[in-house]
Amino acid sequence: MLVIFGITRTQRLLFARPGSCPRCRVAGPHQVLEQASRLTFFFIPVLTTRRHYFSECLNCGCRTELSRQQKDLLAAR
Ligand SMILES: [Zn+2]
Repeated sequence: MLVIFGITRTQRLLFARPGSCPRCRVAGPHQVLEQASRLTFFFIPVLTTRRHYFSECLNCGCRTELSRQQKDLLAAR
């Protein structure tokens, strides 16, 4: 019997917010992204194994990793 396992990584946009970038120092729009790793069984996602949150500057593309609490605080604003 052939069993096919795998891991896929998906990224989705949660929301956009105004902010200032630590690298380019430009105050502008940032997008908050969720990156999830999912275990697949016969190419069907069955379990999310990891979630990471990032704030990405739309001016220079600099990414800052956020904790879940930081993401929730930014979403509540
Ligand atoms: Zn920037």
